[in-house]
Amino acid sequence: MSLKKLVVLGTPSVGKSAITFQLLQKYFVDFYDPTIQESFRTTFVVDRQPISCEIIDTAGQDEFSSLRSQYFQAGDGFIFVYSITSKKTLEGLSDFFLQMDRIKEDQPTPKILVGNKVDLSSARQVDQKVGEELAKKMNCPFFETSAKTRINIEESFYELVRQIRNMDNTK
Ligand code: GDP
Ligand code: MG
Repeated sequence: MSLKKLVVLGTPSVGKSAITFQLLQKYFVDFYDPTIQESFRTTFVVDRQPISCEIIDTAGQDEFSSLRSQYFQAGDGFIFVYSITSKKTLEGLSDFFLQMDRIKEDQPTPKILVGNKVDLSSARQVDQKVGEELAKKMNCPFFETSAKTRINIEESFYELVRQIRNMDNTK
């Protein structure tokens, strides 16, 4: 199978870079330059089958929204991240969804919704139910994650890989 591009999207500071580093390096980066966009190649084994991926950790700033349309065109799968500690970051995803729908039109697109920072439960602003409902509306799997304590990090990416495979199989 060819290289799959997985794009990590969301408003600034939700933990896109921390999730990416936790997935790839297996440690937590506390302070990472929010303006840096980086991509990493890796091979996962999901359900006993290898898959080669390029993970694109986006900078997620509004001024780069023309760049964003390029991600939507080039990406094979998308990870939409908000922080459970900020309602604003969940609301901020609606722009991304609109842009994706415009670019992908009616094509089914592998994607997952992630509510990050679940270790900060005392600062929670977004109920798990609210995330679940949004995911249902978007027709995609949902995970609450922690890049800090490594909760559901691999699981969420693996689920995205499964979706990409399922869609390839129905083409
Ligand atoms: P990005 O702008 O979306 O790439 O966000 P970063 O990955 O740079 O993270 C923004 C801030 O949130 C940093 O200070 C991280 O240490 C912190 N952070 C990210 N993920 C988590 C998490 O799961 N739990 C906690 N407690 N902090 C996190
Ligand atoms: Mg970042």
